[in-house]
Amino acid sequence: MDNTSLDSRLDSVIQAPRLLVISDFDGTIADFADDPENVPVNRASIEALETLGEFPDTGAVILSGRDLATLRRLSGTRDSVELVGSHGAESTGVPVEPTAAQRQRLDAVGRRLNDLIAGHPGAAVESKPFHRVLHTRRVADRELGDRILREALELHPEGMHVSTGKCIVEFSAVSVNKGTWITGAKSRGNWDSIVFLGDDVTDEDGFRVLGDGDLGIKVGDGDTVAAGRVPDTDGVRIVLERLAAERAAHLTR
Ligand SMILES: [Mg+2]
Repeated sequence: MDNTSLDSRLDSVIQAPRLLVISDFDGTIADFADDPENVPVNRASIEALETLGEFPDTGAVILSGRDLATLRRLSGTRDSVELVGSHGAESTGVPVEPTAAQRQRLDAVGRRLNDLIAGHPGAAVESKPFHRVLHTRRVADRELGDRILREALELHPEGMHVSTGKCIVEFSAVSVNKGTWITGAKSRGNWDSIVFLGDDVTDEDGFRVLGDGDLGIKVGDGDTVAAGRVPDTDGVRIVLERLAAERAAHLTR
């Protein structure tokens, strides 16, 4: 899709009776950093989402692989933006906990991952309520990092769902992904049109469930099933600011 057709798709979603705008967080609203607790967040993108969330018949969501508590702290959003963490397993105001069996599986895979990264500085295992995530972004030797990721993919822990992303392998105790969350949200909220922006492999689950009246926007390079594309997080800001401004104009017409 060239810029002209992205423009015209944006023009059409803005006119949807009920519009839901969903954005991924890392690589989409925030840029990457060596310290994942200190990523540079594009405040203008957050503000545009907050504005959209305050309009009638318009919803704004940040849907991230991060756990909900971290997502809340890093995004610092107002209540008008719904936060959804762990790829859809954790929603704002809906406290959910893994079962004892899920916790056992998570602990077991966490131990195996920690064995795998022993002696490899920079590799880390992140614990989230429903996930254990291997990170190799900070491993200086890229080949070594890739090898650790491959070894993790060979673990095949029982009863766990595996997904990959940029320098990560993630093990999930639940089968929720961004696609299943978006599908559920669409029917719960009766949304006519959904715009979803994301940069990573896990966002493809979301792009895949979008329908004709929806618009998926891939951030950056790489294969995608999304119809639209922007180059980087600043491209995301431009789209979100435009949606906020033109949705406001449309609703007052
Ligand atoms: Mg991302």
